Amino acid sequence: MDKTPFKAESKRMLEMMIHSIYSHREIFLRELISNASDAIDKIYYKALTDSTLTFDKDNYYIKVAADQENRTLTIVDTGIGMTKEELENNLGVIAKSGSLAFKSENESKDGHDIIGQFGVGFYSSFMVADMVTVISRALGSDTAYKWESSGVEGYTIVPTDKDSVGTEIILTIKESTEDENYDEYLDEYQLKSIIKKYSDFIRYPIKMDVTQQRPKEGSEGEYEEYREEQTINSMVPIWRKNKNELTDEDYENFYNEKRYGFDKPLTHIHISVDGAVRYNAILYIPEKTPYDYYTKEYEKGLELYSNGVLIMSKSPDLLPDYYSFVKGMVDSEDLSLNISREILQQDKQLKLIAKNIKSKITSQLLRMLKDDREKYEVFYKSFGTQLKYGVYSDFGSNKDVLQDLLMFYSSKEKTMVTLDEYIARMPEDQKFIYYASGETYERLDRLPQTELVSDKGYEILYFIEDVDEFAIKMLMTYKEKEFKSVSSGDLGIETDEKQEPTAQEADENKALFDEMNKILGDKVKEVRISKRLKNHPVCLTADGEITIEMEKVLKAMPN
Ligand code: ADP
Ligand code: MG
Repeated sequence: MDKTPFKAESKRMLEMMIHSIYSHREIFLRELISNASDAIDKIYYKALTDSTLTFDKDNYYIKVAADQENRTLTIVDTGIGMTKEELENNLGVIAKSGSLAFKSENESKDGHDIIGQFGVGFYSSFMVADMVTVISRALGSDTAYKWESSGVEGYTIVPTDKDSVGTEIILTIKESTEDENYDEYLDEYQLKSIIKKYSDFIRYPIKMDVTQQRPKEGSEGEYEEYREEQTINSMVPIWRKNKNELTDEDYENFYNEKRYGFDKPLTHIHISVDGAVRYNAILYIPEKTPYDYYTKEYEKGLELYSNGVLIMSKSPDLLPDYYSFVKGMVDSEDLSLNISREILQQDKQLKLIAKNIKSKITSQLLRMLKDDREKYEVFYKSFGTQLKYGVYSDFGSNKDVLQDLLMFYSSKEKTMVTLDEYIARMPEDQKFIYYASGETYERLDRLPQTELVSDKGYEILYFIEDVDEFAIKMLMTYKEKEFKSVSSGDLGIETDEKQEPTAQEADENKALFDEMNKILGDKVKEVRISKRLKNHPVCLTADGEITIEMEKVLKAMPN
């Protein structure tokens, strides 16, 4: 039979497609299922205005079936089907999208659920198939046609029989080679998981016959296999449901199902925005620090859906680094996708969404801090360090967002306090926010340098993480109060005139100090008399901006 050749550009496009644009081969199934869903949607939209048509949702479905013996994978839909011309135009001309045309013809109606737009998705099937056969009967037509192609050589179209309206796509799956395995596209379990991954929220049932086991009747302890038709997808995306209809348990189940984490989420944020950019999102703040969280291996990101179809498993651009612990998903119909529907063309919408999400997370955390202190402390234990890194790594924009979320251990309260709480309790004559750095709270309690400050009745924040002091150096002030290390030379505490060491006192001990200086040599700048000590005979103080603790950290850093 004569083959109608693909147009020259199409031929080149097809080769390009098969070899390069998709990074995951398995998405061919996502593309074919999306087309099937579009085809059903088209009947639905037509029925809205055509009184001779009724649309009973129960009659529409997509069915996936694998035949290992014949190496075929079939995707059947009960959608609108294609006429001979449509087969020629939509499948014979690459980059021609019948769905895009449908959307613009039906602009007045609400056609925005239709997924297709680029006219290339269908050809992704050649990534896994040697031959693709499409049998289709269009709505309102008695004749069906069979379109068939083995790739670049072109295609054939012949009349054929088909009982009902709709489309059947039969892929002859490639043979596996030593390097490439295609068998998974014939494997029930694998197919199920691909469908779950990408097409879970397609609004029509995606069915599959699966092998199940049941106890064999009459014979104890024995099992028999049987085939059963199952609907693989969950269909209704939880994020499109009304918040009032959902319970905490629903959100927790979704968290577990999506394997965002193995813990229980501490809290969730359900967002529906219908403004400059439309999107839905469900975000979670996990309870526990993932084991690889503070390593290079950890990848931040949210799942990104376009109209219920998964586009990216981890879109890093949706979260600032300091909120990298947040898990969840975003679905938007306003994203400009590139041709492979894997990457975004330009990120204007994405930037808007990211900005919006950031402020929602911040306010949720602030609310938690205010309303559920216990929970917040659990959160802070897991991810507080990350917030402090956030303050440290990008002073300019993060400071305002993060400073109210920080907590430190208080010498007075013996518990975590916020900077705001510290400031609120400050005696009137206290000018600075005092802190002490060390290895443990217990050690800091015994630090000689804290004596004078504590004696004045001032609270001291204990820093036991390396990042603490670096972070507050970035903050510089909180509510106009400067931070001051208890080991800095000048504590800024007003001492009585007569408390100042007199020249006479210094003179009396000059010989001793000179001797000490000689022994210590370069290790200290000077040895002098001090009034800041009560119970301790001696303490070290730092002169400049950098405290002794910071110096230790800096010295420990690899150059
Ligand atoms: P897109 O979906 O981006 O339009 P595709 O290459 O996936 O591009 O499909 C091309 C066109 O072929 C679609 O726009 C649609 O008109 C038609 N088509 C593909 N699959 C089906 C199907 N199962 N039923 C009806 N029409 C289909
Ligand atoms: Mg498509």
